[in-house]
Amino acid sequence: MQRVGFVGLGLMGGPMAANVARGGYPLAVYNRSPAKCQPLQALGATVASSPREVAEASQVIITMLADAPAVEAVLRGPPGLLAGGRPGTVLIDMSTVSPAQSRRIAGEVGEHGWKMLDAPVFGSTGPAKEGTLGILVGGEKDVFETHREILGKMGKHLYYFGPNGNGAAAKLCFNLMVAAQVVGLAEAMSLGAKSGLDLDLLGQAILDSPVASMLVQRKVPAIVRRDFAPAFPLKHMHKDLGLMIDTGHEKGVPLPVTGEVHELFTAAKACGHGDQDFAAVFLQLLKMAGLSSEPG
Ligand code: NAP
Repeated sequence: MQRVGFVGLGLMGGPMAANVARGGYPLAVYNRSPAKCQPLQALGATVASSPREVAEASQVIITMLADAPAVEAVLRGPPGLLAGGRPGTVLIDMSTVSPAQSRRIAGEVGEHGWKMLDAPVFGSTGPAKEGTLGILVGGEKDVFETHREILGKMGKHLYYFGPNGNGAAAKLCFNLMVAAQVVGLAEAMSLGAKSGLDLDLLGQAILDSPVASMLVQRKVPAIVRRDFAPAFPLKHMHKDLGLMIDTGHEKGVPLPVTGEVHELFTAAKACGHGDQDFAAVFLQLLKMAGLSSEPG
């Protein structure tokens, strides 16, 4: 079995790495904040003291990090992954980054004789724990085929989109709809609140209606109860919206709704909601409507 390294044990990376360990792969892990390594150690993983140590121990390295600067930081170090890897190492970057950033990272590791797959995911912390994520892959087809089995430990649905950067592009298309749907729900609920409606009842009616997507089903109770414990932190959705806008500019694609949604998330992040779940954009809308954030 391939020796696997995993860097980035946050809300998503922690449970994903646990599924790789449970899948029987010899695993070395690293996280910038070392305490997050403990649950993996309990599953038999080796805890490395630097990204370089992870690379020295691994044939395949999975990264699940906040953004492209974080991926570049663990690659370059010091002491970074690139210092410890050998030609033939395969990097599977599952972080959400832009297609341009992903291609740049693939080029950098390629200069060291590595191969890379961009393999961002859809599904949040629940599917990450269950190993049922959707995985959107870019890179060489044969590298994808060789790594189907390990990807299958983390995800139920695998989609191959073509060359490097295409998995990242697909992920942005996906999150564009996720952000717009949740902002639509949050705006509906803030209009309901300002109209004096019982939000619990409005939530029930929404859940009985054709607009109750799986995402809306998860976010209605969060909004009604004002429970914004992070499944997907708002600061990461804000980052993704910025990547969509950049990619739209680069490709000449107008994204008018996404532009407005991005501004709203910029305000919500600036007002201190960055570490809450992204559905906390509702609290920002309440504030803008002159309403209290406490349940009425
Ligand atoms: P998270 O809990 O905030 O974890 C981020 C990880 O990145 C942590 O391990 C963090 O280390 C590490 N990190 C950040 N900056 C770093 C740096 N400069 N150097 C080294 N390590 C750094 O985020 P998450 O929710 O797991 O998300 C991870 C990625 O998946 C993001 O790109 C996100 O957009 C994407 N994603 C998230 C979800 C979701 O529902 N949460 C769903 C799909 C995709 P520390 O622990 O030391 O802070």
